[in-house]
Amino acid sequence: MAGSTEADWVSRFADEVIAESERRAPGKAVVVASGLSPSGPIHLGNLREVMTPHLVADEVRRRGHAVRHLISWDDYDRYRKVPAGVPGVDESWAEHIGKPLTSVPAPQGSSYPNWAEHFKAQMTGALAELGVEYDGISQTEQYTAGAYREEILHAMRHRADIDAILARYRTKKAPGPAKQAQKPVDAAELEAEEGSGAAAEDDGSGGTTGYYPYKPYCAACGKDLTTVTAYDDETTELTYTCACGHGETVRLSEFNRGKLVWKVDWPMRWAREGVVFEPSGVDHSSPGSSFQVGGQIVGPIFGGEQPIGPMYAFVGISGMAKMSSSKGGVPTPGDALKIMEPQLLRWLYARRRPNQSFKIAFDQEIQRLYDEWDALTRKVAEGSALPGDLAAHQRAAGTAAGELPRTPRPLAYRTLASVADITAGAEAQTLRILSELDPEHPLTGLDEVRPRLDRAVNWITTQVPAEQRTVVRPLPDAARLAALDDDARGAIKLLLDGLHSHWSLDGLTTLVYAVPKVQSGLAPDAKPTPELKVAQRTFFALLYELLVGRDTGPRLPTLLLAVGQDRVRELLGAGA
Ligand SMILES: [Zn+2]
Repeated sequence: MAGSTEADWVSRFADEVIAESERRAPGKAVVVASGLSPSGPIHLGNLREVMTPHLVADEVRRRGHAVRHLISWDDYDRYRKVPAGVPGVDESWAEHIGKPLTSVPAPQGSSYPNWAEHFKAQMTGALAELGVEYDGISQTEQYTAGAYREEILHAMRHRADIDAILARYRTKKAPGPAKQAQKPVDAAELEAEEGSGAAAEDDGSGGTTGYYPYKPYCAACGKDLTTVTAYDDETTELTYTCACGHGETVRLSEFNRGKLVWKVDWPMRWAREGVVFEPSGVDHSSPGSSFQVGGQIVGPIFGGEQPIGPMYAFVGISGMAKMSSSKGGVPTPGDALKIMEPQLLRWLYARRRPNQSFKIAFDQEIQRLYDEWDALTRKVAEGSALPGDLAAHQRAAGTAAGELPRTPRPLAYRTLASVADITAGAEAQTLRILSELDPEHPLTGLDEVRPRLDRAVNWITTQVPAEQRTVVRPLPDAARLAALDDDARGAIKLLLDGLHSHWSLDGLTTLVYAVPKVQSGLAPDAKPTPELKVAQRTFFALLYELLVGRDTGPRLPTLLLAVGQDRVRELLGAGA
């Protein structure tokens, strides 16, 4: 492993995946895979299922190897429950429970033909924006076209062997659901866990009629409330009954309306597609889970090998979970991309090893994350970034296909958010304020700061609670102004006198810190003392109260620029 000691986790997996692919299938493209169940809005936490193999595949591609990233849309899975809080969906959708996701009507008002397509479309839009290159495979298309015919007949012939493997885990099953052994998860994580659905699917244990690893969807009611009662290996005749009362005998060699149970379906696809890398969430990786059991089935039954499959930790959400849970919704990758650029979201995944959990910020923390990203971008430009940080930055900024579109002039997100806060997105006012930040290099138009500006506007308007928004006073606080002592009056006068000559972000930053120094008889560039810091805090709080009626707010220089010179003079009593 020489040379890889300094590399990041992506590079180390790429080493392993390339070597393993070369051993298993010399000269063939490297195959990595993800599985997504469009059983409802696909939770932002489940994006890790895609980003982990995406980043590895991208590194493999950067090294000049052919690689395929398969995303299996598990849209032939049964509809399990009606998710809460999905617009256009009510309890009447419960009548579809048990049908394939592609046979359930889309939410009302949707332009998509069915449930699965509706939720897939949200995800594919986000993946395109994130620069994720993949081959999507609809399991509905595969199964209903008979693509897995040979594998299904093979699994049925070997049902006793499969049953024996599964039995080892059935008897070892710990009391209670495995999930209880894990540490408590927050609501958003729980949703992500439920979203991955398939892990909880039964393994097809057949009860009194014997074990069959295949479940038909009923011809009469379309649901999987079926029980296979007989199967003939010679004729492939399969007899099933359904809870609805229907029953029939079909020939499995020409029947395309059913699927292998999940614990057999997954290893079948590993073998068929030659998957070398497919990570899974902790719900798939506990003892007796589908990943472990699949590893026992793939070789003896299908003659394939289990992929390298790191377990990834759940991704939490800070901020939005609380806001959205009242509406019952869950944050999706599309929701995150409304408030942050794809680079930032990619970076969150690239910089953490899969087994490290992290949170995606919908709250104030997003401003700090953006500061960190900008600081790293500067270090990269200067050539002073550490190797691991540099690798994460490159993986975030683009793919083997090239750099993702970036904001031409990436002004601080924090500044853009403050301006958006005060202007509520009004374009002319926003352009005026942003041009005054750096008068020597004024903006020529808002496109220079897009799309970052749009993300900041969305963040302010959709994620920041009303009580945290900044509202500039419509009129001066006359009583407060009249009651100011001489010190306060003197400080305000110093500020007003310097406004015109300091009207830029840098200038005003210097000015607001200098006023308390000059008042204390110090030089404007004197080192701050503890007393001076107190004086500065008092002065800043006074300005916030006079401008926005609270003792905090956006950074003062940004706030002053946003309010505008005339209005600042008025609110600070200069007109009186
Ligand atoms: Zn039926």
